[in-house]
Amino acid sequence: MSRLNFKIENEPYGSKARAGSFETLHGAVETPIFMPVATQATVKGQTVESLKSAGARVILANAYHLLLRPGPEVLRKFGGIHRFMNWDGPVLTDSGGFQIFSLPHARELDEAGARFQSYVDGKSYLLSPESSIEMQKAMGSDIMMVLDQCITATASCAEAEAAMQVTHRWAERSLRARGDSPQAMFGIVQGACHQDLRKKSAAFLSALPFDGLAIGGLAVGETRLERYEFTDLVTDHLSKSLPRYLMGVGTPMDILEAVHRGVDMFDCIIPSQLARRGVAFTSHGKLQLRRTVYKFSESPLDARCDCRTCRQYSRAYIHHLVKSDEMLGWHLLGFHNLAFYHRLMKEMRESILLNDFPSYYKKNRFALARSDDENPSHPPKYTKAPPRARLGNYEIHISHQGISSIRQISSGEVMHSVIPPGDEAKKLYVDQSVLASRLVKRESPADELVIWDVGLGAAWNAMAAIQCFEQSYAERRDNDLRPFRLVSFECDLDSLALAAKDPKRFPHLRHAAPFRILIDGEWRHASGLLHWELMKGDFYESMESARVPDLIYYDPFSSKSDAALWTAEIFAKILQRCMPKSAELYTYSSSTAVRVALLAAGFFVAEGIGIGPKSDTTIAFTTFKGAKDHPLLPPLLGQDWLKRWRRSGAKYPTALLHEEKTQIEKLIESHQQFSKDF
Ligand SMILES: [Zn+2]
Repeated sequence: MSRLNFKIENEPYGSKARAGSFETLHGAVETPIFMPVATQATVKGQTVESLKSAGARVILANAYHLLLRPGPEVLRKFGGIHRFMNWDGPVLTDSGGFQIFSLPHARELDEAGARFQSYVDGKSYLLSPESSIEMQKAMGSDIMMVLDQCITATASCAEAEAAMQVTHRWAERSLRARGDSPQAMFGIVQGACHQDLRKKSAAFLSALPFDGLAIGGLAVGETRLERYEFTDLVTDHLSKSLPRYLMGVGTPMDILEAVHRGVDMFDCIIPSQLARRGVAFTSHGKLQLRRTVYKFSESPLDARCDCRTCRQYSRAYIHHLVKSDEMLGWHLLGFHNLAFYHRLMKEMRESILLNDFPSYYKKNRFALARSDDENPSHPPKYTKAPPRARLGNYEIHISHQGISSIRQISSGEVMHSVIPPGDEAKKLYVDQSVLASRLVKRESPADELVIWDVGLGAAWNAMAAIQCFEQSYAERRDNDLRPFRLVSFECDLDSLALAAKDPKRFPHLRHAAPFRILIDGEWRHASGLLHWELMKGDFYESMESARVPDLIYYDPFSSKSDAALWTAEIFAKILQRCMPKSAELYTYSSSTAVRVALLAAGFFVAEGIGIGPKSDTTIAFTTFKGAKDHPLLPPLLGQDWLKRWRRSGAKYPTALLHEEKTQIEKLIESHQQFSKDF
C-alpha cells in the first residue's frame, strides 16, 4: 500500500489540475506544492523560521552533496536530517541522479552505478541505487527518490532508450534497497523528448509499488513548448492515484502551466538564485533591483505582498543592499520570492478547490508571462559603460543603412526592423486602414473614431496617425472632421523616453504630443478634435476600460519575446470587447500561428499589403461585412491557405494541451470564412 495515502480533493472541469493531500512521517502536505531547495541542508540565505514564515511546508535536500559532506555518519549520529538542520517538517531527498549527469567528465557510468571523484576531498565514490538509498535512509527523509539516469532532452532515440532501460532497472533495485523502511519512494520517468519512450516509462513505473512518480529529464535543454508538451503527455500516462512531481521546474509561469497539465509537486532554485542576482518576482512582473530607477523609491517591492520584506523595507533600501552586495539583500529578496511562490501555490490550490482554476489559469498566464524569461539564470547584464544610449531594457539601434530604431535588450528584438520605421507605420497601419478618409465626417453629429495603438513603443504608429490627422486638418475645415480618439497601450515607457532624448535620430518625435504623453499620459490637439491617451500597464487588463475601437494597430513585440499578446485567448478577448461593432485589426505579422490564433478567436482574416522584403501582413475583421466593405478589398484567406495550414509544421499559436489543439483545429475547420457558401 502507498505510504503517503494520497487523496485527490478536487479536479476542476476544463483543466487537468488537481488539489490533493498526503501524509508523511512529519505531517500532512497539501498539493499543489512548491518545495524550496536545501541542497546543502540549508535553503540559501534563509533560516528555518524564515522558511516557515514564507509558507514552506516541504523542503528538498540532496543525497549526493550531503554524502560527500558532512557524510552519512554525521547524519546517522543526529538521527537524520531533521534534527541536524532543525527542520521538523517533511523533507524530500533527491538521489543524486541529476548531479552525476551534471559531471559528465568526472564520472564513469555503468550498470552498477556512477563512479566519480568527490569535489570535497578527491576520494572516489560509487553512487549506485543501493548506496543512494542507504544515504537517503541515513538522512531519514520523508520521500526518497530513486537513482535515475538523466540525459539531455535532445538525446537521440537510441541513447534515450538505453538510459531509460537503466533507469527502470535501477528503479527496481531502489525499491528492493528500501525494504520495509517507512520512508516513501518516488520513481522517475525518463525518455528525453521521445513520445513513445515517455509513454513506455510512465507505464512501466506506474506498475511498480511507488508512492509517487516524478517526471525527470526536463528543464535540461528542451524548449519551453516541448516541456509543456511532454509534461502533458506523461501525466496522461501516469497512475491518477499517485502524486506527480516535475523535477527542477521552474519559473512561476512554468509551474502554472504544469499544474494545468496535472502536476502536483515542484522544486526549483530560482527563487533564491535570482534573489542573489537582485531579482524579485512581483505582481507587476520581475524586477531587477540593481536598476537605478529604484534608487529613491520608497515603495515596497510589491504593494500586493504582505511578506515581512514588503511590510518593512523600501525598494531603495533593497537596491542599496544589492548594489553593495550585502547578505541581507539576498536574504530579504529570497524571502519575498519564496513567499511569492508559496502564495501562488496557495492561490492555485484554492482556485482548484473552488472549480475556478481554468479562469485563474487564463488570467495569470498573461500576468506571469510578463515576468517570464527564457533564461532565468542569465538575466540581462547592465554594463557600467554602455556602448550605446540605453534606458531600462532598451537601446538605440542603428542599422547598416543608418536607420535609427529601438532594440529591446533582453530579447534582442528591433522595433520596425524592416524599412524606416516611419514608412512602415504609414504604409502598414495608417494608409492600409484608410485613416485619412475615415477621419472625414459623413453624418452629423459624427461618431468618434477610436484607434487602439497596441504597443506604443517609440510612438511611430501613433505619430503617423497624428500626422495624418494634422494633414487632414490643414487641408479641410475642422467641421468636416470627426472627433478622433487615439488610445495607446504600453507597459514600459522606457523605449519612448529613450527615443525622445534624441530627436535628431527620431524626428517623428519633434512634436509636443509625445512629451505630454510621457509627462501627463495624454495630449489634446488645439482643435479639441483629437485626444491621445495612454493606457499604461498590462494590455489584457487595461483594454477593459478603453473605448471600443474602430481600428486596432497591433504592434507589440513578436510572440518570441511576448507570447501572451499573440494567443487565441487575447484575440478572443479583443473581439468580445469590440462586438457587435465592426472593427479592424492591422498587424505586421503574417505568421501562420498568429493567423490561426485570430481565426480561432473568431476574426475574419485577410492578407494585408507587403512591406519591404516581407511578402504580406495581416488584417483581421470582427465581422464579415467589415471585410467585404473594406475599400482596399484585402483578400480573405481561403481554401489554398487552409490546405497549406493542414500541412504546416507550426500550426498552433502557443504551447497548448492536446485537447486545446483539437479544439483549435475544429474552430479553424468549421470557420465561416472557409465554408463553401463564402
Ligand atoms: Zn513580499
